[in-house]
Amino acid sequence: MSKKVKRLFEGFRPENYRLELNPDRDTLRLEGTVVITGQKTGRPSQRLTFHQHGLRIVEARITKQDKKGKRTLLPSRISHHRSFDEVRLHTDELLYPGQYSVTMRFEGTVQEGMHGIYASDYQMEGNRRQLVSTQFESHHAREAFPCIDEPEAKATFDLILLSPVGETAIANTPVQSQTEKDGKLVTTFETTPKMSTYLLAFVFGDLQYKETKTASGIDVRVWATKAQPAASLDFALGVARRGIEFFEEYYGVPYPLAKCDHVAIPDFSAGAMENWGLITYRERCLLADPATTSQSGREVIALVICHELSHMWFGDLVTMRWWNDLWLNESFANVMEYVAVDALFPEWEVWNTCVTQEGLAAFRRDSIPGVQAIKTEVHHPDEISTLFDPSIVYAKGGRLIRMLMQYIGTADFRKGLKQYFTDHAYANTVGEDLWKALGAASGKDVSAFMNPWLERSGFPAVTVDQKGGNATLQQAHFLLDLTKADSSRLWPVPLLSDTPSMPALLADRDTSVALPSHEFIRINRGAVGHYIVRYANPEHAAHIAGQAASKQLGVAERLMLLSDSSMLARAGIESFAATLNLLEHYIHEDSEPVWDIMALIIADCRRFIDVDPGLEAPIKALLRKLIQSEFDRLGWEERADEPVQDIKLRATIIALGVYAEHAAIVTQALELFETYKQDAQAVSSELRGIIFGAAIRSRVPGAFTYLLEMDEATQNVDLKQDLIGALTLTKETKEIDTLLARLTDKDKVRQQDVDHWLVYLLRSRYARRQAWDWLRANWGWIEKTFKEDKSYDYFPRYAASAFNTNDLLKEYKTFFEPLSDQPALTRNIAMGIEELETRVAWLERDLTPVQAYFSK
Ligand SMILES: [Zn+2]
Repeated sequence: MSKKVKRLFEGFRPENYRLELNPDRDTLRLEGTVVITGQKTGRPSQRLTFHQHGLRIVEARITKQDKKGKRTLLPSRISHHRSFDEVRLHTDELLYPGQYSVTMRFEGTVQEGMHGIYASDYQMEGNRRQLVSTQFESHHAREAFPCIDEPEAKATFDLILLSPVGETAIANTPVQSQTEKDGKLVTTFETTPKMSTYLLAFVFGDLQYKETKTASGIDVRVWATKAQPAASLDFALGVARRGIEFFEEYYGVPYPLAKCDHVAIPDFSAGAMENWGLITYRERCLLADPATTSQSGREVIALVICHELSHMWFGDLVTMRWWNDLWLNESFANVMEYVAVDALFPEWEVWNTCVTQEGLAAFRRDSIPGVQAIKTEVHHPDEISTLFDPSIVYAKGGRLIRMLMQYIGTADFRKGLKQYFTDHAYANTVGEDLWKALGAASGKDVSAFMNPWLERSGFPAVTVDQKGGNATLQQAHFLLDLTKADSSRLWPVPLLSDTPSMPALLADRDTSVALPSHEFIRINRGAVGHYIVRYANPEHAAHIAGQAASKQLGVAERLMLLSDSSMLARAGIESFAATLNLLEHYIHEDSEPVWDIMALIIADCRRFIDVDPGLEAPIKALLRKLIQSEFDRLGWEERADEPVQDIKLRATIIALGVYAEHAAIVTQALELFETYKQDAQAVSSELRGIIFGAAIRSRVPGAFTYLLEMDEATQNVDLKQDLIGALTLTKETKEIDTLLARLTDKDKVRQQDVDHWLVYLLRSRYARRQAWDWLRANWGWIEKTFKEDKSYDYFPRYAASAFNTNDLLKEYKTFFEPLSDQPALTRNIAMGIEELETRVAWLERDLTPVQAYFSK
């Protein structure tokens, strides 16, 4: 779909939209009127063109506002161009550049997918209820009204919304006035500042809220349906207020609007959406029920809120000119969420979480052949979903901005940002504008440092070969299939060493350094650099492993050491047996983020079970040995004064113990399952999901039905999440069929959750075959339901993440290759095949060394 689409902004520059919308959720019909005022630019022509998708323009009028007075024209013809998403208003006479206003009356639909204007279903006291909301990013505003739907076409909006009487209606700006007309509530909202169409939003429904004010007087509200407990709004409200206060101080620029609303939407495709002044969320990313939300759940909520709040400036106030710079928005927000949450909750130590959550995802994705660079051309917004790879655009991009912060220092980073916001407020930019501002503030050539990282896919592996007082350092493009690596690719690599004679950057392919002593050096301190490290001299590698064991390495470095080792194994540079040997150095590890990567290494190791089932028992035995000392230290009971990391670590250890069939852990988990049935509050929210899972794994009679009924009865999103994780562990064919059959039933599984259920089933060794058969048999339904949605390309991606054998690789190819001509799927199918081929090759290559490791 690389059809070159003309930018409509080049022909007409809107300044204001007066927009009246009447979406009816019962009939799913939309009626509206828009008056677009703006400048016709370019050459004289006989038509004006606007975006629309699925709309029917029933009436149009063009008013020329020349100096002598107005003149109104009726277009001789209105034509709808489906393939270009356009409506053209043709005139008999030539239209010269100048001021025009265009009035259009139109009809459209309330969407059934989670985009444009759409309705979410939810249950309230046993009755089906609906809430209507919008999702306009990236190019769905055109489904709601004719417009110039390009981020550069910033304009002000006067929204008049018709909604049911007795319900709440909210939008980007405060309510100016409300009346009733023909049995509908008519709300006029205050004029918005100049902004992009994709940021316009509204919500109406039967909502509850809680409110507060920032120190600077901004009204902050958190909203949810009344099906959610009121107390679940409190945590978000505090973060929402403190988040704005933090960013006003950090950026040195006031929050640009009078209010900021945060709304939990029952059916929501992404995590959240930064509509200016009206942020919408998946319920799980906003609502923290004090009775059921875990520490990790609260961390997610705080990070998502701060991510979206950072967009109120970076993205909303200053916006990328075109979608090819979307990475700029998202990479930036992805770092700022950690900067803010670290300031609000320093005891959470979220920078370590950042490495485990974002860093590892970025490295793993960015090492698959065929991965795209962060900065990639986008000709049409339809391509965005194919390029919008969260591991790259968010995670890797965020890591690079963090590396840049380290490179220029926080003070200059903030100084540069303030200038950037001041210079470009209410306007649009390209990436280079930010580098200029940060370069001017720091006196460093930021473009030269950043562009090689952004314009090339992948990352380097740096090999350190130290013999005595001399070290050579060499960089090379790292890929899981090294035969496809690009040997000409070089990056400016910050070495982050504190050995005095070491250079700050490795810009060339290699360098040789005379060291002040024979002491072994260490690079990438703090693990901020986006590259992996291999210490070639075995004594050197053993020395670093020893430093990990004795915790002379910090948390981020300990976990990166393990991650680097597993990456090197997957590319065939080392053997996975070496990774397992290294893992044994972590037997006294007590840090939660490090355990996160240890669990990931174990998950990697479990893939070998698919090729040799005989490995299951020794892998479980190794795991029981690894967890024992932490299990002894942490036990089952939360202590009032323990660090939050221990609360999370306890869950990790117990979950691993359940998998490893640790007898004491399984017995206690099953007892707690019985306790839960009597008194749900008696079981920690952190452990609840694991305990459900233990009951399912152990085939406790009645457990499956009990948990399935719980899922159907509850509106609690944390509980629902735990139930997905637990129920999909079933080993029973009939139960797996039951779960799969529910996926197409909207009343049982919300659209936003379908991919979660499916990926968990695909990843289970017991359910994989049935889930894969189901996916293939129901592809028509998947396509129909998710085609317009960002999550559509997750389906081939999830399947690729789950498979380990040559047989499934072949079936994957047979099924997905014919679907490759769908632009939304092309890239993820190609990458899925690469991912599977490299994985199958790795498992074949390392099977013998891994078998040898376990038989020793
Ligand atoms: Zn974002």
